[in-house]
Amino acid sequence: MNFYSLHNNAAKVSFKEAVIKGIAPDGGLYFPEQIPQLPTIFFQNIQDLSNHEIGYRALMPFVKDDIPPAVLKEILEEVLDFDFPLIPINEKVSALELFHGPTMAFKDVGARFMALCLGYFFKNSEQKVKVLVATSGDTGGAVANGFLGVKGVEVVILYPSGKVSDIQERQLTTLGQNITALEVNGTFDDCQKMVKKAFVDNSLINSVQLTSANSINVARWLPQMLYYLFAYKELKALNKKLVFSVPSGNFGNICAGMMAQQMGMPVGHFIAATNRNDTVPKFMQTGVYDPKPSHATISNAMDVGDPSNFVRIQHLYHDDFSQLHSELSSYSFTDIETKEAIKKIYKQAGYIADPHGAVGYLGLQKYMENHPDVYGIFLETAHPVKFLDVVSSTLNISLPLPPQIEKIMDKKKVSIRISEYEELRSFLLTK
Ligand SMILES: *Cc1c(COP(=O)(O)O)cnc(C)c1O
Repeated sequence: MNFYSLHNNAAKVSFKEAVIKGIAPDGGLYFPEQIPQLPTIFFQNIQDLSNHEIGYRALMPFVKDDIPPAVLKEILEEVLDFDFPLIPINEKVSALELFHGPTMAFKDVGARFMALCLGYFFKNSEQKVKVLVATSGDTGGAVANGFLGVKGVEVVILYPSGKVSDIQERQLTTLGQNITALEVNGTFDDCQKMVKKAFVDNSLINSVQLTSANSINVARWLPQMLYYLFAYKELKALNKKLVFSVPSGNFGNICAGMMAQQMGMPVGHFIAATNRNDTVPKFMQTGVYDPKPSHATISNAMDVGDPSNFVRIQHLYHDDFSQLHSELSSYSFTDIETKEAIKKIYKQAGYIADPHGAVGYLGLQKYMENHPDVYGIFLETAHPVKFLDVVSSTLNISLPLPPQIEKIMDKKKVSIRISEYEELRSFLLTK
């Protein structure tokens, strides 16, 4: 399978090259040349397939020119070594928990898949590849964990000093080995600017093999379709229209779900739920895409004003607004509404949602007001403990630390402080 640039001004590339490049040279996102169809029999018998088997069948068509079957199987053994449980909230709604991986946010699946693909591609290469990533919180930890100890790969993470949560900072700065954390005196936008500058710095990219591990990379994006297939496997027997509500920031996760639908999976509808960063909900109302600088909220992993994967969603529907409208609804919610939802879910179901999952729940609730006959699934994208302050103060409870978090609490933080692009550049050239 080849991948082309959505800006249509760059050569088609293989999966391998798309993963290594991250973004096409014309600045476009890569998109698969065909959308493979999973046969009807796959969906008829899905309840008899293991998660590994489902993953293998869904991803093989995209990677088969570059990754042999046995290697893909090995990669999936590692990537999918935890559960994706559906927790009933009431008779019509379940939470799909995606946070049982090592860093307790859904990004573990994509980050680990990408890490293992790159590790395989560079296994016998003399050259080292450097993965450069800016994080506002969850991405850094998932990427650091996924790439830890992968031979041939050095990871450099930029994060804004003092602007990530204590647990998130520990997840980035305590691993050592091939992971370096650069603590930037500035904001997330400053980190992102430095990273972008590095990718267009010709004298740098001619001497260092650089790649990016943010969510536009096809190896991070595509494996996320598996969450939807796993949920379908569990809920198929209900014989109901299934509706997925996805708390969305850069819209990579929901876009992967829409890809699963295009590959043949029966889905009733998608809901993109956002916090007050409402570029897409506004677009779905007006047809006008008007990106804005992002606002800080309590669901900070979704504080995105110009969602990078939304172009892929539009492309999936041939840039046809009315077609998109029939498959996707999008709603925005305030922090106050989000906290109320956390309380309500706890009171009614005894379930502790994190702020992102709570936004997903709100989206579902809004849609189901007018569509009472569907079965709703909201994606619970992070463990509530990652947003300890908000959740414990909203519910007036204390949360026990899970073992993944407990084990980093007494590790020593190591980071390198930087302020300027030149410091990043010389770090990349010398280390
Ligand atoms: C990254 C993230 C999101 C947003 O996912 P996108 O694919 O960027 O839309 C939602 N919730 C959590 C907890 C995240 O870490």
